[in-house]
Amino acid sequence: MNYQEKLAEKFFRYAAISSQSVGGSPVVPSSPGQTELAKLLMKELEEVGAVDISISDTAVVIGHIPANLPEGHAPVPAVGWVAHLDTVDSKVSPDIHPVMIRNYQGGDICQNEALGLYIKADEHPELAKYIGQDIIVSDGTSVLGADNKSAIANVMTAMEILHNDPSIPHGEIYCCFVPDEEVGLCGAKSIDFSKFPVAFAYTIDCCELGEVVFQTFNAGSGRVHIKGRTAHPMNSKNNVINPCMIATDIINMFDRAATPEHTEDTEGYIWVTGIRCDALNGEVDLNIRDHSKAKYEAKKEYIKAAVEMAKLKHPEAQISVELTDVYANIYDAVNENNSKCIDYIYEAMKQLDITPKTIAMRGGTDGSFISGKGILTPNYFTGAHNFHAISEFMPMEATEKSLLMTLKLIELITEGK
Ligand SMILES: [Zn+2]
Repeated sequence: MNYQEKLAEKFFRYAAISSQSVGGSPVVPSSPGQTELAKLLMKELEEVGAVDISISDTAVVIGHIPANLPEGHAPVPAVGWVAHLDTVDSKVSPDIHPVMIRNYQGGDICQNEALGLYIKADEHPELAKYIGQDIIVSDGTSVLGADNKSAIANVMTAMEILHNDPSIPHGEIYCCFVPDEEVGLCGAKSIDFSKFPVAFAYTIDCCELGEVVFQTFNAGSGRVHIKGRTAHPMNSKNNVINPCMIATDIINMFDRAATPEHTEDTEGYIWVTGIRCDALNGEVDLNIRDHSKAKYEAKKEYIKAAVEMAKLKHPEAQISVELTDVYANIYDAVNENNSKCIDYIYEAMKQLDITPKTIAMRGGTDGSFISGKGILTPNYFTGAHNFHAISEFMPMEATEKSLLMTLKLIELITEGK
């Protein structure tokens, strides 16, 4: 089997189904294409021997590939793979038309001759690493959606390889495809974990060959509510309570060095993402992020204290704050029983001669939520570049390496070393 052709064939099939998610949707999945893709995957899971295939009313698909271990084999932990069905809304076309560039020879890549759209080599020097390889790009009117359909192709190809070669031993494997990752991990949040009984799991989401992520932000959101009092200027003195001023007071209590524009790597922040005020009511929206759980909790406490301070200063105003945890740092789920799950990634890379590039991600993955539920779920690379952009591209040798990672992980987990 030519793995690159297999991966490309599946990728083109999945990309043909428009499955862009919609932010702020009251329902999951946020778009019907995600259900259509989910149903296609149910059929394909059946074809590769999965059992107990289920789809939830939120379009979460789970399939179970039963173990085929020889009698007397040491017990092997059940492992899961999770990939997301949706593509991101980057304010370009939701319909994706991938283009295969065979044997890239360097220089600009023409995405769309009719529209004159190119990925320019001088703007994307990373292209030079892939000279001589096949590369998939979009037609310049959309993102490519290798995020995350290259991962779906990866998992489905791996399951097909296992199905076609029963001599490859493996334990229980669960494949889980979820919608709406790009709009707040809503699909992962609706997983019925009783159908996903794994010791640990993996996502394959982002990015370049070698990337490993097992540290993400702890993430929360906050909303401050302010109710003031308005009056005619004739009797405003000692009477008006202005929510605009109170909102400003609260924001001014935050550390100006701990904002997104002043932080990097593992530095956390509070991001004021919205202020809506009139003469009577006010609201302030906040995003809270920190890799350190303790510092994340301290930021939440600080916000509460700032609100208490504002209450002291404006005793007649009504001020309150709601804080919601959104996802957790994957790393906080590591314990002595599951830490091997991360070791396997590095061992697989060593055996496949891939140089690891470990990243503390300034964001979250489906694994951030799933790890918070006690199932450690680190991430390894898809091999693609420029997620969420029209210049997103998928070099096929790196995509194949990502598939080899999946197969190697299955081998290592089965050996249990
Ligand atoms: Zn993704």
